[in-house]
Amino acid sequence: MAVLEHLTSQQAIDLENKYGAHNYHPLPVVLSKGEGVHVWDVEGKKYYDFLSAYSAVNQGHCHPKIVGAMTSQAQTLTLTSRAFYNDMLGKFEKYASETFNYDKLLPMNTGAEAVETALKLCRKWAYEVKGIDENEAEIIVCENNFHGRTTTIISFSNDPVARKNFGPYTKGFIKIEYDNLQALENALNSNKNVAGFLVEPIQGEAGVYVPSEGYLTAAKALCEKHNVLFIADEVQTGIARTGKMLAIDHENVKADILILGKALSGGAYPVSAVLANNSIMDVIKPGNHGSTFGGNPVAAAVGMAALQVIKDENLAENAQNLGELFRSEMAKFIETSNIVNKVRGKGLLNAILINDTEDSDTAWNICLALRDNGLLAKPTHGNIIRFAPPLVMTKEQLLDCVSIITKTLKQFEK
Ligand SMILES: *Cc1c(COP(=O)(O)O)cnc(C)c1O
Repeated sequence: MAVLEHLTSQQAIDLENKYGAHNYHPLPVVLSKGEGVHVWDVEGKKYYDFLSAYSAVNQGHCHPKIVGAMTSQAQTLTLTSRAFYNDMLGKFEKYASETFNYDKLLPMNTGAEAVETALKLCRKWAYEVKGIDENEAEIIVCENNFHGRTTTIISFSNDPVARKNFGPYTKGFIKIEYDNLQALENALNSNKNVAGFLVEPIQGEAGVYVPSEGYLTAAKALCEKHNVLFIADEVQTGIARTGKMLAIDHENVKADILILGKALSGGAYPVSAVLANNSIMDVIKPGNHGSTFGGNPVAAAVGMAALQVIKDENLAENAQNLGELFRSEMAKFIETSNIVNKVRGKGLLNAILINDTEDSDTAWNICLALRDNGLLAKPTHGNIIRFAPPLVMTKEQLLDCVSIITKTLKQFEK
């Protein structure tokens, strides 16, 4: 088969099944083009994208400014490694550090790498600044977290599918209930070796679980009281997704360590980063940490353009407004529906809870029907469907999507 031969959807699916590891269970749709809030399959059918590559494509598919920055940099210089300086990285570090109000940035590629980086940074700070005995540091994490797929990260996951038979696991983590301040306080009080608290401001993968108002503020205050670093994983919630630049901005919380990824590139390229002030970041010395591709010139150009687009196009404000509209429209529908129990979320990170058991395939079947009706979304954790369209959506498009969603859900009324 020639590499450039045009494939049907079924041929593309068969190829992936035969030659690719089966580590995903994709919705059967084969995409070959994207622009703004839309994607097209290989047969030319157009869809609204209501997943945005798990919130990587906040700026919309193939944003011309991001693609422009990427292609122009790709034709000039792609990779030097950090063995040498390049003329793009410092500009990106300055731009992103100023955008998020931190002294310094450490560039990586994927979200999981950035989380790993944050954990290493936190531990090193604990030994060298806080004065915890070597190898004794503990990091508090939350139940039902999602922080990526490395061996250390899955060590503190409680998803059996992500964890089982990947042991032995990395030690040094204490798991507490999410959105439970008493649990955090107890863990801090009963453990003198706590270095950090790693938390998602909204648990995206767990099903868009929004904590109680004030939780993040109070958690940050508890961390401060115990000289423990508050580490915010904003890989999914950050970069305007929830209606503010960061989800913690809703409570005016400043993280000691901020983790970004996904939309830091607008979906064009893997770009992730860890941000912190000098008092923390300066524990990292040459040779302590690194990545061949982290901070490469293309990533730097793409990262800057991606943040610029968020600001220029007021995407945080748009996410805030459209999110309110979406939830209020869905709430109206739910009043008369017996197939959806609830809508929840912030900005344009939302989910609906399907009225069925967790192990039923109703949410999956609804997503297949949504696909047939021209809208792509995917269930997360059983009977929950996440809705996270690109933030460049217009009000008219959103209302069009609401009507596709409600029309589809009506087919499933009991
Ligand atoms: C997606 C995600 C990650 C992991 O990012 P990858 O780029 O897939 O490694 C980490 N944390 C959160 C909150 C995420 O949503």
